[in-house]
Amino acid sequence: MKKDIIIIGGGVVGCAVARLLSAYQADVAVVEGGSDVAEGASKANSGIVHAGFDAKPSSEKAKLNVLGAKMYPGLCAQLGVPYQRSGALVLAFAEDGREVIEHLLKQGTENGVQELRIVEKEEILALEPNVNPDVVCGLLVPTSGITSPYELTYALADHAAVNGVAFMLDTYVNDISVNDDGFTLATSKGNIEARIVINCAGLHSAKLHNMISDEKLTIIPRKGEYYLLDRQGHMQFNRTIFQTPTKMGKGVLITPTVHGNMLMGPTAIDVDDDTDVSTTAEALSRVTEAVGITWPMKSTRTVITTFAGIRAHEINDDFIVGAVNGVPGAYETVGIESPGLTAAPAIAQALVEQIAQEHSLAKRPLWNPAPEHAKPFSEMTIQEKMEAVKADPEYGAIVCRCEQVTEAEIRAAIKRPVGARSIDAIKRRTRAGMGRCQGGFCIPRVLEILAQELNVEPIQVTKNGGESRLLVGSIADAAHKEDA
Ligand SMILES: Cc1cc2nc3c(=O)[nH]c(=O)nc-3n(C[C@H](O)[C@H](O)[C@H](O)COP(=O)(O)OP(=O)(O)OC[C@H]3O[C@@H](n4cnc5c(N)ncnc54)[C@H](O)[C@@H]3O)c2cc1C
Repeated sequence: MKKDIIIIGGGVVGCAVARLLSAYQADVAVVEGGSDVAEGASKANSGIVHAGFDAKPSSEKAKLNVLGAKMYPGLCAQLGVPYQRSGALVLAFAEDGREVIEHLLKQGTENGVQELRIVEKEEILALEPNVNPDVVCGLLVPTSGITSPYELTYALADHAAVNGVAFMLDTYVNDISVNDDGFTLATSKGNIEARIVINCAGLHSAKLHNMISDEKLTIIPRKGEYYLLDRQGHMQFNRTIFQTPTKMGKGVLITPTVHGNMLMGPTAIDVDDDTDVSTTAEALSRVTEAVGITWPMKSTRTVITTFAGIRAHEINDDFIVGAVNGVPGAYETVGIESPGLTAAPAIAQALVEQIAQEHSLAKRPLWNPAPEHAKPFSEMTIQEKMEAVKADPEYGAIVCRCEQVTEAEIRAAIKRPVGARSIDAIKRRTRAGMGRCQGGFCIPRVLEILAQELNVEPIQVTKNGGESRLLVGSIADAAHKEDA
């Protein structure tokens, strides 16, 4: 197979790059090792659109963070993705933290973050009454926001797909070599040739870089574990609440999510295994301990799940975005840890402008708009619900009771341009299984619908690709074997 441009990695960065490239006349494909897009860090993070006070001035992180954050409201509105300018507070709980808060104000201002100001105890407690009354002072960050990282990735991918980008899932790039006409990618599904290759491979981006460059890069996987709280518990905080940062990052935070849950975490622990996203009692106890400083009344009674994501920490602590030195036609995004979700639109813009210019790519006469999504049934008014059911009776069949997700929405998620093919892919596209029972009630029906729509046997449906099957066989088959 031969393509003009191959993007390796279907995370938020790869999909943002794919979307912008789809406006140009080129044959583009995203090659993703996972069974879906948003299978890496882009599905497991805090979902915060950082304002940009935290990154070192003049660093790539600072520039791309601040620019990316400014792009969010327009981009999310265009793609129909949830975004709220919910604001943030960074809190100091001892007088010696004041210096750090003052430093963050100065740094943020230098980075171009607007509306920052230092607030004292009384104002903090008026804004956020559940904060520990021992708080001394803080930095108020009105331009901080929240989004849904995986919904953004799906929407970016869909928009790229309706403009001709091919998505090759379950296709892992094992090797890259330079040839006369560009590159040969040896993948788990055979060789692919490309004139231009763009490495957006997250945790494996340094490994791919090192296959074609003598200037070696190193990524350290840095794991972060979280608690997710039920949205039926009362929302305790309106803003994202940080503590003063440490050398490992922004520290443990509490934040509302765009769907009305609360998130507590993440830890920051360097690990050897970049595939292990299990959670541990030990790491989670660090979360509860740290959260207790911000929120003394902390309660884990409404925890509905725990999860972990792994950051791609580059040892020089900055984003690497652009052409690979000395390898014409190769581009990369390496070390895209936090604030990579925020920066993704700006990273894509910078990279695609560079590629279009260096390869004289011409714009397509027509760039199809992003596909529109129906309003979620759970957010409709009674009148809208009645109309939806009348137009399509499958809106009348509630599959996920916790999140009020209907059969019509599950079928629609499978039919999206880059559609759901697993239980988890349905969960993240529709919220079926995201509620208090975590899919205990709806998974069998979701599995049945997936099997029908994908035209496969129920036994072939997986939780999240590979061999993660939910069924091992039918009872009738098992009984038959026993008889024989
Ligand atoms: C715990 C945690 C909290 C965070 N919080 C925030 C936050 O609040 N705000 C913020 O702005 N940022 C945050 N981030 C950072 C943000 O999540 C990442 O910067 C962003 O998701 C990176 O996107 P990506 O596309 O570069 O990588 P990924 O999403 O990891 O995507 C890379 C993709 O490449 C694929 N891939 C890898 N190797 C290959 C290969 N050889 N062949 C084919 N495919 C391959 C992977 O399967 C993966 O899907 C956080 C990250 C973590 C882990």
